[in-house]
Amino acid sequence: METREIRLARRPHGEPVADDFELASRELGEPGEGELLVRNRFMSVDPYMRGRMNDVKSYVPPFELGKALQGGAVGEVVETGELVVHDRGWREHALVQADKVRPAPLPHGISPSALLGALGMPGMTAWVGVTDIAPVREGETVFISAAAGAVGSVAGQIAKARGCRVVGSAGGPAKAEYVRDVLGFDACFDYRAIEPREALREIARDGVDVYFDNVGGVQLEAAIGALNRGGRIALCGAVSQYNATEPAPGPRNLALLVGKRGTMRGFIVSDHADREGEFRGEVGGLIADGRLTLAETVVEGGLEAAPGAFIDMLRGKHLGKVVIAL
Ligand code: NDP
Repeated sequence: METREIRLARRPHGEPVADDFELASRELGEPGEGELLVRNRFMSVDPYMRGRMNDVKSYVPPFELGKALQGGAVGEVVETGELVVHDRGWREHALVQADKVRPAPLPHGISPSALLGALGMPGMTAWVGVTDIAPVREGETVFISAAAGAVGSVAGQIAKARGCRVVGSAGGPAKAEYVRDVLGFDACFDYRAIEPREALREIARDGVDVYFDNVGGVQLEAAIGALNRGGRIALCGAVSQYNATEPAPGPRNLALLVGKRGTMRGFIVSDHADREGEFRGEVGGLIADGRLTLAETVVEGGLEAAPGAFIDMLRGKHLGKVVIAL
């Protein structure tokens, strides 16, 4: 059968542009031994994909030029109709090894797209961060950057459910309002309008016990400055630097962690697969109880819309987890 996919046409320099991507058709053979033919219904665009577009050594290999991109997707096995999660996104149909797909248990009434967001990799990243990497405790102040995004929105709501005071940052007044009014954070500032160091002085007067870092740069520096004694920082990502063409300096105040007895720890969610059951239990329960709002933008327009949605996601145009409906 004929199907379509998005390929990496060239490696972006700085911010990706439409010409870095190519929509192409290809002939897909019959499923081989142990393979399933899956029709994708939703695909994910994630910040880490920007790193894979560079030809550099990292924790995952770079995408190959002229080949289809990869990423999280939810689809139906054509033969059985079963819903599965797998890593062959950026295409309409995929041949996937049966032992590489994950069944997709979905609470009643929840869209399968949530399996790419709060109930999928970003949600698990949030849970691992606030549970194992920088554990949050009742009564503590937790600061979360990119709070309106896929990971940040879940991290903040879990911390809130565990009895923390949760403050966030987001780009623009509308997002900051959403984080406060819809996601239920205690406070949220617009990092484009207020200098993060000043904002934290205002909204976290007693300091920050845990910082969940999605963005790096000036917000990481501000969080180190505001960190309380024994504070913990989970280094989840540094999206403010993903399009940088030169390595970013800083944080300049790292030495403060000495006196503060602070810790800062990076992590990659896929190393924590053994925690999936507990993550599903807690986050699934919060969703079922109506205590966790699914922050999500579904981009219509099929595969053609995916490169633009990816570029817009990195720019912060969308709210919550960005998925493409195929
Ligand atoms: P988001 O849904 O948060 O989307 C990215 C967001 O980044 C945008 O919405 C935008 O929000 C923000 N952003 C863009 N540029 C800047 C900037 N210059 N300064 C501050 N914020 C900026 O993405 P995810 O939730 O999927 O990912 C969040 C972070 O988590 C990323 O760094 C990602 O790489 C990381 N991650 C790490 C994993 C791990 O295993 N360690 C796994 C999954 C994700 P705004 O409009 O608010 O600026």
